[in-house]
Amino acid sequence: MNVFVVNCGSSSLKYQLINSDTEEVIAKGLCERIGIDGKLTHSPAGKDKYEASVSMPDHKTAVSLVLEALTDNEHGVIKDLSEIGAVGHRIVHGGEKFAKSVVIDDNVIEAIAECNDLAPLHNPANLIGISACRALMPDTPMVAVFDTAFHQTMPKKAYLYGLPYEYYEDHKVRKYGFHGTSHSFVSKRLLELIGKESGESKVIICHLGNGSSITAVKDDRSVDTSMGFTPLDGLIMGTRSGSIDPAVVQYLAGKLNISLDEVINILNKKSGVEGISGVSSDFRDLEAASEGGNERAKTALEMFAYRAAGYIGSFTAAMNGVDAIAFTAGIGENNITVRRMICGYLSYLGFELNEDANNVRGQEIMISTPDSKVKVYVIPTNEELAIARETLELVG
Ligand code: ADP
Repeated sequence: MNVFVVNCGSSSLKYQLINSDTEEVIAKGLCERIGIDGKLTHSPAGKDKYEASVSMPDHKTAVSLVLEALTDNEHGVIKDLSEIGAVGHRIVHGGEKFAKSVVIDDNVIEAIAECNDLAPLHNPANLIGISACRALMPDTPMVAVFDTAFHQTMPKKAYLYGLPYEYYEDHKVRKYGFHGTSHSFVSKRLLELIGKESGESKVIICHLGNGSSITAVKDDRSVDTSMGFTPLDGLIMGTRSGSIDPAVVQYLAGKLNISLDEVINILNKKSGVEGISGVSSDFRDLEAASEGGNERAKTALEMFAYRAAGYIGSFTAAMNGVDAIAFTAGIGENNITVRRMICGYLSYLGFELNEDANNVRGQEIMISTPDSKVKVYVIPTNEELAIARETLELVG
């Protein structure tokens, strides 16, 4: 069966068409600047990439252009829409309502909309993607796969904040965690690699990209994660501050004479390694600047690795041990230096780095030595494939 995987943002739509039998990507692409002007980039497997500037006043037009591209005589990959067996939608926030993926119906749509408050930038866009697809493919089954669902197994002691309890009860203020699809995908693969698919296991997944989070996975279930009520919490990221003393928010608002919204915007978009270094949010640029003697870039990298090592340590303590650790996403898969820096903090675990193995990018590999007590792997993530698998499981 072909599964159409849709990741709809406020002005963009990323998609993949995946043959779920062979797990091959038949086509993938991106609609950008929806509601502004519109650009479609469509990459069919084995054919030339197709790029077009086309008017995309809304998401329905964007979905319709993608479906036309998929069925087009020249750059299409399927004859007609009947060759799409199901659609898998990435949904950012499922609140406490969704602990796993679900087949989409009117009740599910309503429940996702009830989580809009928790992800005001993302969930409404995800819902627009669902309604656009439903309008154009009314008889095709659709599945919602949530970024938060994997973390719904966290115990209360991990997900509650030290706030008056009624804010949790009345306003749902708690840690939710994100990147769940990736953490779940990578932890399953890690358990296969260390031969602990069933039974007791303790692993830590480091998803290090523009947005970064680390998750503790015990017996195949998320038991703690570094992102919180929103993706702003936890690690220092490309442009996000990660955890800071909340009193800084009020202090800065006063000092800079700006609103709380503006401070939060600074914490989300102007902080992290970009804000610290003044160079870039991209770790390739940071590394180059640091090697060229830029002290702030060097400090930013050190802070990133230090904070990551801190989470690994705290989650190891929380699980009373760790069998294996995996690095994934853009930085985790590709940045040799950052991996080495984080690994530099792990000798207390009886960990030893295999420098040659660590010297690779973008491929699955064990980077610990054979004697290392804790196994450490690089495992490329694949959120689209994970969504296609979940979709197939529910409607296949
Ligand atoms: P997003 O959260 O947007 O999905 P990614 O997972 O793509 O982010 O990660 C982006 C980060 O990965 C960037 O900081 C980039 O520098 C880093 N990265 C990607 N490819 C490489 C590479 N080949 N070498 C070093 N770093 C890389």
